[in-house]
Amino acid sequence: MTYEREYDVVVCGAGPAGLGAAISAARQGAKTLLVERLGFVGGMHTGAGVTNWCDTPGGPIFDEFVERLTTLHGLRWVEDPVHYVDPGRAAITPEFFRMVAMQILNEAGVDLLLLTFFEKAVTIDGRVTAVECINKAGHIRVNAGVVIDCTADADVAASAGCDIALGDPEDGRLQHCNFRATFENIDYEQYAKDKPSNEQLLEWIRLAQDEGRITPPDGAFQPEAETFPFNQRYKVLQLTSWDMEGVDPLDPWQVSRALQQCNIATLQVLEFCRRHLPGYDQCSIRNIASVLGIRESRRIVGQYTLTAEDVTEAHKFDDGIVSACFFMDLHDSPPGDTMPFSTETIWARRPTRGEHFEIPFRCLVPIRIQGLLVAGRCISAERMAHGAARVMPTCMFLGTAAGTAAALAVRSSRRPDEIESREIRALIGMPVGDPL
Ligand SMILES: Cc1cc2nc3c(=O)[nH]c(=O)nc-3n(C[C@H](O)[C@H](O)[C@H](O)COP(=O)(O)OP(=O)(O)OC[C@H]3O[C@@H](n4cnc5c(N)ncnc54)[C@H](O)[C@@H]3O)c2cc1C
Repeated sequence: MTYEREYDVVVCGAGPAGLGAAISAARQGAKTLLVERLGFVGGMHTGAGVTNWCDTPGGPIFDEFVERLTTLHGLRWVEDPVHYVDPGRAAITPEFFRMVAMQILNEAGVDLLLLTFFEKAVTIDGRVTAVECINKAGHIRVNAGVVIDCTADADVAASAGCDIALGDPEDGRLQHCNFRATFENIDYEQYAKDKPSNEQLLEWIRLAQDEGRITPPDGAFQPEAETFPFNQRYKVLQLTSWDMEGVDPLDPWQVSRALQQCNIATLQVLEFCRRHLPGYDQCSIRNIASVLGIRESRRIVGQYTLTAEDVTEAHKFDDGIVSACFFMDLHDSPPGDTMPFSTETIWARRPTRGEHFEIPFRCLVPIRIQGLLVAGRCISAERMAHGAARVMPTCMFLGTAAGTAAALAVRSSRRPDEIESREIRALIGMPVGDPL
């Protein structure tokens, strides 16, 4: 069955960017639909176990989340005066976030369509006029004044025929993807008292790998006994977070294989811990990621492309609509480099403490294609600058600006790219910066 609906604004993807976009568009009076392929909202935060929202501004809607989550005891600040900018990183309990997000969406009057995949953009004369989606009830075509692509993979933009960049410009290399699991019921005191030496631990792991009791997932970054599941650099058993290289996030077969292997490996590591580690004999699983943690895939080519220099030199723009200060964080494979970065590297890759860079509205506007805005991880940025702009507070801030612009466009019968940035800034309470 195919049926049609009419909306002012349709937002595809309900991660940090999509939430910011849908809530802000609805609050500006636009009839707004938010489409999400999963059965919950929050994107990487709730699906991939990315709990800490980085130390960079997130805009007015993020501030509202912070306030509500703090009241509910669902958020605590993680401070690190050496590496982080004040007030630190917001460690949020994903389950609280999901529920609070539902509450705010409901209050804002956003229509939410879960378990629905964006499938295809409908364009007429280079303008996106509708999106086609699929769910259990069949196909739905949603006609919209403005569509906002918050899928993180630029699914809508790619389908609409926008120009796309992917990975490293030299070889297409992508940042590592990641899988997270959390163990519980561990007697840390007993472990501290009776823990094996690192040599002993490595011997057990080597034996377990030789006997096929621990099998690293394909692409596990440097998958030696020393690195899976043991982190040689930190000298700890890495139970909670594994990086993989060479997994294409746009290939569902590869993603499925990686998720399957990571689930199996989690069970194997759990059994290993129960068998060998003092204090772990009763250990259990608190949660595992529902989706693979994806750091990088498609980015649009927009009217402006954010550069590394814009980040480090704290550039401001006449059309700056988001303020940010996180460092350019690339979990890369050679010839790039990866975590852990030295303190010097972190500070060389972000604006001077106390300074901010701005992201111009033009980074959200694709070239050639009308009726479409893009927010979140897939905005127009050089690969390095993308490493700074992809963090969750910035994505929610970008979404907030995009939703505001979309609602203004519909209300005033203008194209989204005709909206003046000062109009957006006024509505999202962003102070006017110093133009370059
Ligand atoms: C391992 C890892 C660690 C990270 N660490 C941090 C950190 O410590 N702090 C921090 O702030 N950031 C961190 N990040 C970055 C951050 O999580 C992401 O870049 C951010 O969540 C991107 O936000 P988004 O809204 O653009 O996309 P996402 O959070 O990916 O949300 C996109 C949403 O769109 C939906 N979607 C996708 N395609 C479709 C479709 N076709 N139809 C319908 N729905 C669709 C998805 O299901 C998802 O809900 C990390 C990321 C990873 C992977």
